[in-house]
Amino acid sequence: MRQQYLAIKKQFPGTIVLFRLGDFYESFDEDAKTVAQVCDVVLTSRPVGKNVRVPLAGVPYHAVEGYIAKLIAAGYKVAIAEQQGTEAVKGLVPRDVRRVITPGTLVEPGLLEEKRNNYLAALVRADDHVGLAYADITTGEFATTELSGAELEARLSEELGRIAPSELLVPENGAGDRDEGQGALGSYLISPLPVWRFEPGTARQALLDHFGVASLEGYGCERLPLAIAAAGAIIQYLRETQRGAVGQIVGLRTYTTAEYMALDEATRRNLELTQTIRSGRVRGSLLGVLDTTRTAMGARLLRRWLNQPLLTLAPLQGRLDAVEAWTRDTPRRTEIREMLRHVGDLERLINRVTGRTATPRDLVGVRKALEQVPRIRSLAEEVMGRAASEAHPENAPPQDAGAFHLDSCDDVAALIAAAISDTPPVALSTGDVIRPGFSAELDSIVTAARDAKTWIANLERTERERSGIKSLKVGYNKVFGYYIEVTNANRDAVPTHYLRKQTLVGAERYITPELKEYESLVLNAEDRILDLETQLFRQVCDQVASAAPRVLATAQALAELDVSASLAEIAANNRYVRPELAENGLLEIRAGRHPVVELTLRDEPFVPNDLHLSPDESIVILTGPNMAGKSTFLRQVALIVLMAQIGSFVPADSAHIGLVDRIFTRIGAQDEISAGQSTFMVEMVETANILHHATPRSLLILDEIGRGTSTYDGMSIAWAVVEYIHNHPRLGAKTLFATHYHELTELAKTLPRLRNYNVAVHEEGGRVVFLRKIVPGGADRSYGIHVGKLAGLPRTVIQRAEEVLRELERSREAKARRAVVPPPVQLSLFGQPSAIEQELAALDVLSMSPLDALNKLYELSQKAGGKGGEKR
Ligand code: ADP
Repeated sequence: MRQQYLAIKKQFPGTIVLFRLGDFYESFDEDAKTVAQVCDVVLTSRPVGKNVRVPLAGVPYHAVEGYIAKLIAAGYKVAIAEQQGTEAVKGLVPRDVRRVITPGTLVEPGLLEEKRNNYLAALVRADDHVGLAYADITTGEFATTELSGAELEARLSEELGRIAPSELLVPENGAGDRDEGQGALGSYLISPLPVWRFEPGTARQALLDHFGVASLEGYGCERLPLAIAAAGAIIQYLRETQRGAVGQIVGLRTYTTAEYMALDEATRRNLELTQTIRSGRVRGSLLGVLDTTRTAMGARLLRRWLNQPLLTLAPLQGRLDAVEAWTRDTPRRTEIREMLRHVGDLERLINRVTGRTATPRDLVGVRKALEQVPRIRSLAEEVMGRAASEAHPENAPPQDAGAFHLDSCDDVAALIAAAISDTPPVALSTGDVIRPGFSAELDSIVTAARDAKTWIANLERTERERSGIKSLKVGYNKVFGYYIEVTNANRDAVPTHYLRKQTLVGAERYITPELKEYESLVLNAEDRILDLETQLFRQVCDQVASAAPRVLATAQALAELDVSASLAEIAANNRYVRPELAENGLLEIRAGRHPVVELTLRDEPFVPNDLHLSPDESIVILTGPNMAGKSTFLRQVALIVLMAQIGSFVPADSAHIGLVDRIFTRIGAQDEISAGQSTFMVEMVETANILHHATPRSLLILDEIGRGTSTYDGMSIAWAVVEYIHNHPRLGAKTLFATHYHELTELAKTLPRLRNYNVAVHEEGGRVVFLRKIVPGGADRSYGIHVGKLAGLPRTVIQRAEEVLRELERSREAKARRAVVPPPVQLSLFGQPSAIEQELAALDVLSMSPLDALNKLYELSQKAGGKGGEKR
């Protein structure tokens, strides 16, 4: 057995093998130590030879799912080695690994999070290209892409951050992560695969075989070898670990990251899109506010939308049309949302059918979901058809909004209704799964068995009457089966066709051929019923599986309806408006609110604020004391833009959103300290990233840049950053810059596209009241001391601080009269080009020889006043 174990263990390196031994799953050696620790079970040992014992830890078979869940959550992979029957061959029961459970390939409903996708991803590099693919086998989603070009690493980490794979396949030679070792992938569970799995030829063949096609042209990746390599690796891995599950993958989507708004990790986190910074929970995040979906598949779709805002008008208008239609019809919205409740997770249900892991109850779930569809479809048609004909009264055919693809798959629902009883048991082993009337054969066995039981039950009465023996009894025991018992006193009255079977002290037991026949009917019927039910159930599953693509399409359309109706519900409840989208540089929000903060305020009302940004007024410097509401306003603007670009209504009285290509944020840095980098360094790295990557179409949210260092350093950096954004021809991005350095308001004097705003406060008898209203002009004081007072600093400290401040301000004013802030240097760079610049611009660099170039460089350097070095 030890050898059998070791042989199995060898096939699954890096995987914990649970080895079935009677009523336990045992683990040995190092695995045992891990299992004992993670699952909190006893670590013992077991002899495996003379004087040799190995560590052993076991878990009871009936509770194994819970222990597997713990191991998976701790980042391990688990292989389950089952006994093959009970017959020992040469003293040993054969064992075989039936399933390998890895975090990226879970199908067990109990181990999965309902409201988010569970992705398995694969990553492969060659030269400066990356292939990245991901799949969710519980929903059949499968996508691949190839990344290359500038900022490859940044875009890769954004993409991985969005997908957040539970498991990442990489080539085992480490080629997955070229420069940083495993560092950059450190937060993902890595499963190394042999390099040849990623070899484009092998990978391509795996995909061709899987889809049964001759070319990948139809999937859009025929010419993307690394996209193929990554996708092919996933298919091969699924084939090995989840033999059944690979069938769920019925399509492959090739995408480019350019379709979606790129959001870097810092921005995703800072804006608290899907989880809060503090608790890491959904509650309190934007998703927490927006998600009132009624199905888990809708919740997953909304999360995907939130992670991939769109960049083009047409699909966004489509989404907004749908949301708007649902906001206008509260009764129908309420009704459809009630119906969606009963739909359940059709997407995962149908995938379990395809993967042959569905239970009878899953099939009933599919039926119940499909039965809702006709009514849901007519509601959607009424609501959206009407909205479309109101919008375009001239052309009658209603605009498609997803709802009209809804196929209720009546054939599938009817089949399940006919075949499976309404409330079947969870597992097949207990019978009662197939509905009477579905199979004549099954029914006849059931009827025959029932008749036989009745016959036996009546036998005592009939035989007593026939034989006249009043004390005759019919009984049952395990050895002889059914028998007729007659006491010795009545022995003479026993009919001649009775066959004697057993003699007791005061009685004889008999059987009759007829009784034996009925007995075997009863006893065999159970087995036969189970066999037949299993067989019929499989057939039904096969038939349903063959219609799975249609059901899946319906599931996806339902998920989309769920999201639209949910966004409409939130829009109606929270008074959101439809944003007006355009492809221009204008961002105008009237009475905007922060979608999360406005719901959390208890004592005071949320104060709405306006914003106007355009190519002529592209930078807002927002000053105001700490705690005034600067950060809230900045985030609120970013969230409103983001909501608009996923197709949601927004918290404002009106909003005109010129689509942005990216949202960059630089907010706080409290949380990085634990990661080992200094706060200031992180801040500067993020700022550098923004300055390098922003475009004129981007939205920049900069909160307190320079806070992490000394006042003068910080202020200088902040000053220079604003100038750079304003003046650099590649930038000019729409920018919101919050700072408590009120000195920065001076910038408005030299930068024409910059505007000053401040958060108004009201001072009254030494007390400061936050008005939360954003008004034009810069703040003149920082009120930091006031905040100290609010926080309960001792009175003497406050008084002394006020004195020191007055003193400092007096001396600064004196200095300021002597020196003015130096004029920004950058301005000249982008003003009139100098002679040298003109000369540079005229060069045809591509046709110069290296020597010519060097000479020219020498000459220019001399003109610029440099020494140019010794000419050779
Ligand atoms: P700052 O960035 O200026 O230090 P914050 O944006 O963190 O200030 O705001 C401090 C607190 O003020 C927030 O936690 C919130 O409770 C409240 N607040 C901010 N903006 C508003 C508003 N517009 N209306 C009402 N309360 C607000």
